[in-house]
Amino acid sequence: MGFKYVVDTNRGLVQQVGKLGSDYDKWLHQPINSKASPKLYDNKFIELLTLTPWWLVPVLWLPFVAWNFVVMLRRDVDPITTMFVILLGLFLWTLFEYLNHRFVFHMKMRGYWGNTLHYVLHGFHHKHPMDKYRLVYPPVGVAFIYVSLSSFGRLFIPDLIFPGVRTGFLLGYVLYDVFHYYIHHGKPSIPIMKKLQVRWFSYRILLYLLDDVY
Ligand SMILES: [Zn+2]
Ligand SMILES: [Zn+2]
Repeated sequence: MGFKYVVDTNRGLVQQVGKLGSDYDKWLHQPINSKASPKLYDNKFIELLTLTPWWLVPVLWLPFVAWNFVVMLRRDVDPITTMFVILLGLFLWTLFEYLNHRFVFHMKMRGYWGNTLHYVLHGFHHKHPMDKYRLVYPPVGVAFIYVSLSSFGRLFIPDLIFPGVRTGFLLGYVLYDVFHYYIHHGKPSIPIMKKLQVRWFSYRILLYLLDDVY
């Protein structure tokens, strides 16, 4: 639609968005509401790593939640403290999601590489908000965040309570991602969930997803 560069959907999109130049923003805000997954990379292996069915999130990560929880239970900490430590982890996840979405995913970037980075990190979700296999974080991304944030967290959080914080953090992530998928694709049968879904779309009330209108 009047763009200097016309995107070829038969080829990987990631290598093309840079060429949109200053039209990128406009292009991004003409979402394609299809459940089909567009081609992001020509390389089949990399492409595969970007596709994640929603159920893989609980299947893959809940065992890690359980493992961290069991390690925490073996520590010499009373149950009330353990509960608060897990709540702290949940809170830290929420804070992380908010800051990451607000300041990293929606960072203003320009130029060829700016467009490309923006698209790879989060832009694809605004262009294809209903893409069934790109609604939850890909496992490679989660593993990267898990390992780097764990190393970072160890600098500040006492070792005694660390597994508990990690339990809450990872659990927060799993709940968030499954809920995020549900908001896009679920057909709520429980009235309250239906209301919530409608609200999400129309009033965008869930603050920490403020920018994520789709
Ligand atoms: Zn967003
Ligand atoms: Zn979304």
